[in-house]
Amino acid sequence: MGKLAITGGKKAYQGKFPGWPVWDKKEEKALLEALHKTDWGGYPPPNTITKRFCAKFAKKHDSQYCFTNASGTVALMLALKALDIGWEDEVIVPALTFVATASCALYLDAIPVFVDVNPDTLCIDPDKIEAAITRKTKAIIPVHLGAHAAEMDKIMAIAKKHNIYVVEDCAHAHGMKYKGKSAGAYGDINCFSFQSSKVMTAGEGGACTTNEESYYDKLVALTNAGRKGPREGTKFDTFGWALRMTEFQSAILEVGLDRLFKVQMPTKQKNYKYFQKRIAGIPALNTLPDDKNITRKSGYGFIAMYDEGEFGVPRDKVVAALNAEGVPCFGAFYEPVYNVGIFPLAQDGSPLTLRQLRGKVDYRKFRGACPVSENVAYHETIWVLHRMFLGTEKQTALMCDAFEKVIENIAELKK
Ligand SMILES: *Cc1c(COP(=O)(O)O)cnc(C)c1O
Repeated sequence: MGKLAITGGKKAYQGKFPGWPVWDKKEEKALLEALHKTDWGGYPPPNTITKRFCAKFAKKHDSQYCFTNASGTVALMLALKALDIGWEDEVIVPALTFVATASCALYLDAIPVFVDVNPDTLCIDPDKIEAAITRKTKAIIPVHLGAHAAEMDKIMAIAKKHNIYVVEDCAHAHGMKYKGKSAGAYGDINCFSFQSSKVMTAGEGGACTTNEESYYDKLVALTNAGRKGPREGTKFDTFGWALRMTEFQSAILEVGLDRLFKVQMPTKQKNYKYFQKRIAGIPALNTLPDDKNITRKSGYGFIAMYDEGEFGVPRDKVVAALNAEGVPCFGAFYEPVYNVGIFPLAQDGSPLTLRQLRGKVDYRKFRGACPVSENVAYHETIWVLHRMFLGTEKQTALMCDAFEKVIENIAELKK
């Protein structure tokens, strides 16, 4: 029997974790208000609570307009559709992200093209974007990953030079500022998620922000069965889906937005600072370099980087040991997306894949071509979800103790 919990020892983290989601009487009151108001849906858009929430959310994100919808995934699809992206157009996305950043293009019969990430930020590497641009490229979707920021100034300059759109995937970046301006205010149309795991949540939901009125109008129509605005039910101006968000969701989000900015972002910053300091003092572990360009830090997942070479123990064994100590964390939280789901099947002409890909696009060609994404995903990253940073310093310290204990006793993992 060893000292580590995974070899039979006592668990390092015995206490309670910070809970998620967070709510109190304010959410209860807001939900009851929505209930008693009786028109619960998103029609006609924007309904009253949703209108109020959208105005606040847009303002907090340096944007003129915000419009909500069913999820972060469809927010991305709606953004591309509003920019008229479709059949066989190419959309550049980072290799290391959630599958939705790429699949949003597939819904519209467009083709995602993967670009490797910068090892300092784990976000798309601007220096590798131009090599991926072809005559068919219509957009870039940078993702602000974890608590890090894509280099928006460089990305916007490349997009301008090649006359292509930018859609920021801000599913991890509510409240973040890059060089003094909000994530979600740089691109043409930008997307947020309110799914359960995100830093503000209504269980499900999504939003697009933009500074262009014409895009806002398109987003409303696309979300609202093709109707451009709040008007009679039978006038259809254009094509659209029914992807409206409900008033219940907006009611919860309005309270959550306030708490995120006033309480949760400052708490996470403080606890992450503590975490960084402790982790940097543990052999084989570190955090990503501090990014001075992030002028207001948010954060969905906080990433510790592990060096497999130092003790010759694979990352996944360390993650399993941390889990056994009571710390919920993940290794390959995201895999390079070309290795996931339908992507590796495309070249085979598999009927499981889509017509625009079948036998035409070989996603296996990205293997080895995105070495940073592969290396960090399969060997280096240890993702700790944001809720673990919403507690007291003592709770954060207990988590750091567990990291320390695993590395101190790493010899037990060699057997
Ligand atoms: C969660 C997430 C999405 C999709 O959001 P859903 O609301 O779950 O559809 C898109 N991109 C990234 C990076 C995400 O983490």
